[in-house]
Amino acid sequence: MSYIVGCQNCKKEYTRNWSWMMCDQCYFRICRNCLNKHTGKYALNGGFKCSQCETGRLQVTELILT
Ligand SMILES: [Zn+2]
Ligand SMILES: [Zn+2]
Repeated sequence: MSYIVGCQNCKKEYTRNWSWMMCDQCYFRICRNCLNKHTGKYALNGGFKCSQCETGRLQVTELILT
């Protein structure tokens, strides 16, 4: 059983109870450090808009879906 999960932007691994930002549409998950710098097709300069899908918003979560 692993309690380590990886950020999908910077690839760093953090413990499960780190606060994550997760997209409510596509479940793109990043660490808090990446909130201002994740980039993708739909967001170039970070922020709460998901960079990986058209309509998703990043939400603070401490629950990790397995
Ligand atoms: Zn990160
Ligand atoms: Zn998304």
